[in-house]
Amino acid sequence: MQRLLSHQSVTHLGYLRGILEAAGIGCFIKNERLSGALGEIPFLECWPELWIIDAGDLAQAERLLGAAQTEAAPGEPWQCSSCGEMIESQFVTCWQCGTDEPAADRPHPAT
Ligand SMILES: [Zn+2]
Repeated sequence: MQRLLSHQSVTHLGYLRGILEAAGIGCFIKNERLSGALGEIPFLECWPELWIIDAGDLAQAERLLGAAQTEAAPGEPWQCSSCGEMIESQFVTCWQCGTDEPAADRPHPAT
């Protein structure tokens, strides 16, 4: 077995596990229940961890997750506060009226 990564969000790990399982890679989440029971945990060791069962799958797993995180990075489309137009996330100003994207509405970058 091989630990792949740890993340503070079990939900995020569950999403990544789904990607691996879809590719036929056996994997599981460790510390899943611990995190939910204790709430706020300051220690990295207590974060939920994503493990793969066969260490031979490691390279493929990392490639899959790398691709998944790249895809997620651009984020959601945003709505112009001035004219209400929906703008693709790669644009920082409204193509219709030129209003800047409101910074506070940016989604948090996937980590
Ligand atoms: Zn606009």
